[in-house]
Amino acid sequence: MGWILIVMFNRSRSNLATWFTLSMGSILVIFAGILYWREARDRMHSFDQILYNTSRIMAAGVEDYIYEGQQHTDLENVPVLGSDTLPLSTDLFFARWYTPHKQLLQFIGAVPPQQLATPSGFQTFTVDTQLTSTPIQLRQLTLPVYQEKRLIGYLQIAASLAPVKEPLQQLRWFLVVGVPLAIGVIALTGWVLGGKAMEPIRQSYNQLQQFTADASHELRTPLAGILSHAQVGLMEPVDPQEQHTRLQIIAEVAESMSLLVSQLLFLARHQGKLSPDMLKTVDLVQLLHPLVEEHTVNATQNQQTFLNALPKEPLLVQAEPDLLRQAIVNLLSNACRYTPAGGMIELCLLPQSHWAVIQVRDNGIGISSQDLPYIFNRFYRADRVRSRQTGGFGLGLAIARQIVEAQGGELTVVSTVGKGSTFEIKLHRR
Ligand code: ADP
Repeated sequence: MGWILIVMFNRSRSNLATWFTLSMGSILVIFAGILYWREARDRMHSFDQILYNTSRIMAAGVEDYIYEGQQHTDLENVPVLGSDTLPLSTDLFFARWYTPHKQLLQFIGAVPPQQLATPSGFQTFTVDTQLTSTPIQLRQLTLPVYQEKRLIGYLQIAASLAPVKEPLQQLRWFLVVGVPLAIGVIALTGWVLGGKAMEPIRQSYNQLQQFTADASHELRTPLAGILSHAQVGLMEPVDPQEQHTRLQIIAEVAESMSLLVSQLLFLARHQGKLSPDMLKTVDLVQLLHPLVEEHTVNATQNQQTFLNALPKEPLLVQAEPDLLRQAIVNLLSNACRYTPAGGMIELCLLPQSHWAVIQVRDNGIGISSQDLPYIFNRFYRADRVRSRQTGGFGLGLAIARQIVEAQGGELTVVSTVGKGSTFEIKLHRR
């Protein structure tokens, strides 16, 4: 393969790998983003819930009463803030109680401003402490507390967000390391898959190139023959007899070229499986009878014996009759060509439970085990000299196999050198 092709295949392969990595990588990144966002939201939500529950428990401990027109607030029984209470299980960073006029009444933790300035609800902020080297993030809740629909004060509590941030930080690390690693693995997989995807294309390209090279080679020899005979024929003085012979040779060579070209066209046109609407119900017994007659005459001319074994009852298959006939004719003509005078050729049709089997046997020259795996390849000839003499291009069996396989059947061969060959076409019975 030329280097331009290698570059082209490699470029297509890396394009495939790049697109694969980009698409899979984006899916992965989006997935990881959604996962992180959900995790952060859920953790924050449950943290806020705990903070709110704590504030409700604390607010329930406040005792507020009006005595001689004066409002009195007793915080002794308030968890954390009061002294008469059991400690709460949450780690509050601070807790503060403000009067309804937003004046500080009592607090635990850092010294707060005298006047409540923050609105009600949740806030997040960062504070510097001597306890830790890095500033800590706090989540604060300011809650107006009512008793019998009367505002009795404001409770403000805050707790460190570390229990939320630390697992999230770990998750972030995991994603930051894991996602690029996974993208690397995806890229590698893409490259390997790209190679696998390109392989059949590379193979069929190679085959096509080989086929074109073989076909041109096959055409070059007869063309050279035509050219040389024409050139010599054009030279003076002209002997009419010789001129006639040369023209005859030119005609013969052109005829064989036209056969080759039609076989090549046939191979190109009938690639792949036939569509079901092209197939008809065919009685093989009827299809084979004319072939038997034709080949009996031919065989007698070649001093060969032609035998047949066809059943009396119809044997139906789904096939394209003209193509199937062509495949059988190719096998029969090979059997005649590769069987010496005095030999025997036989055409049998065997009904099996699911299959109809057409056998073409001969007791001719046979095929060696080295050649056997290749005889269905295009342009393959076991004995180039002999098959050239018999007029073959090495396409007959390739065509036969292509036809049989296009109809869902199988074409196989068993052969022994010097003893003969048996070609077998198996088709599904209807
Ligand atoms: P060709 O046109 O050369 O006969 P085919 O594709 O029909 O090409 O066959 C390929 C080769 O297989 C032939 O060149 C021949 O060597 C071998 N072959 C095919 N059929 C037979 C047979 N019945 N007996 C012996 N050799 C055969």
